Amino acid sequence: MTADEFRVHAHSLVEWMAAYLENVGNYPVKSAVKPGDIFNQIPGAPPQEAEPFSSFMRDLDEVIMPGITHWQSPDFFAYFPANSSPPSVLAEMITATLGAQCMNWETSPAAAELEEKMMIWLREMTGLPAEMEGVIQDSASTATLAAIITAREKISGFEINNNGASSAGVLRVYCSEQAHSSVEKAVKICGIGRSNLVKITVREDFSMDPAALDKAIDDDRSKGFLPCCVVATVGTTGSTAVDPIKAIGEICSRNGIWLHVDAAMAGTALILPEFRWMINGKEYIDSFLFNPHKWMFTNFDCTAFFIRDADSLIRTFEILPEYLKTRTRGAVNDYRDWGIPLGRRFRALKLWSVIRSYGTEGLRNKIRQHIEFAAKLKEMILEEPDFEILAPVLINVVCFRYLPSGIDNEATLNLINEKLNHTLNDSGKLYLSHTVLDGKYTLRMVTGQTNVTLAHVEKAWKLIMETARSLA
Ligand code: PLP
Repeated sequence: MTADEFRVHAHSLVEWMAAYLENVGNYPVKSAVKPGDIFNQIPGAPPQEAEPFSSFMRDLDEVIMPGITHWQSPDFFAYFPANSSPPSVLAEMITATLGAQCMNWETSPAAAELEEKMMIWLREMTGLPAEMEGVIQDSASTATLAAIITAREKISGFEINNNGASSAGVLRVYCSEQAHSSVEKAVKICGIGRSNLVKITVREDFSMDPAALDKAIDDDRSKGFLPCCVVATVGTTGSTAVDPIKAIGEICSRNGIWLHVDAAMAGTALILPEFRWMINGKEYIDSFLFNPHKWMFTNFDCTAFFIRDADSLIRTFEILPEYLKTRTRGAVNDYRDWGIPLGRRFRALKLWSVIRSYGTEGLRNKIRQHIEFAAKLKEMILEEPDFEILAPVLINVVCFRYLPSGIDNEATLNLINEKLNHTLNDSGKLYLSHTVLDGKYTLRMVTGQTNVTLAHVEKAWKLIMETARSLA
């Protein structure tokens, strides 16, 4: 493709992108294709001869788009959002155009220094301790893995890195029953072992019970285990419960245990001073993550990971073969030493673009609106006697179920609500996801989409009520 051809295609592609973003609310939110539908339309072998870009674009529209679930639709209320915004997309275009691989400071000094500055901006915006240093990771799962491995190394005097797991005794990691599965995955793959993850019971509001944590640690010590790390969650995936950081932090501090905080989605709410209570006890936090790629209008992927003792992180991950030696080593941040992959994308650019385009006040306004929509939805649900709220509504997630009068059998209610969820999602008009809380099939509606308005929430709620009552 010549530069002139590129120019022509790029201009028409931008038209395609703008039209998509304008119309995203008109697509069926959840793709209705069946397994294999897309695969079977793609030739079994690559073309031998060059094809025009126009045929690629035709297949994008005809083959690929029907198989896309529209996460940027304002009627997308499922999971946690992976919201985006035009300034983020524009910056990603630049990142792809530059094609820089930013493993070292030297391989793109601007990428390393902008990343360092963006992490300072985010630290200040969220009110995290000034001593913490930040780095962008690809995902919360990777950041949690990096935190647990660093905790593992710190407690074993960096022995496991050198001599393997058998040298260090049996390490234990703790999280609540409601913690995200990425914690279990990290413990499973980092050599500590899934059976050494202790899931602590939760209180009525689904947050970790610190007394149960304290007891579990004591019990483990008396059995000869080595407590290593507690992963607390600020904003659990199921219901956005907030674990009590101060109480947990005091226990960690008393026992010399690493405290990692997973605030993947809810961390964005810390840009609001009224939500800083969620990290009361922040002085105890050793590492912390949140995902601007969930709720801060920065397209996937971008996890902000903060750590108090960056030297331990670097000592855990650094490796220096001859071909990576540079003259600036030690004087700059070589972020390849701050996590698992060597190669790194220039992710700071989209954060810079998003924060500058909205301004911190603009970001706060949007986040506050999303939180208000969830509070309004809760009020609307409470007005209907045949629905019930199943968890406290703290941020932007509302957990509820349909509770038709005369049915009190839990298994039947679970089946009805599961059917309701599938019927709604198959309609293409909205997309909800579910969890199970206290054994109850729970519908989760998340009001965190970039362009969601109260009208979208009201329309969705009307459809939910009508669909539920028509199922009965
Ligand atoms: N932690 C929590 C609380 C989450 O809700 C999620 C995903 O929804 C994750 C971690 C994993 O996020 P990622 O996809 O960035 O690994």
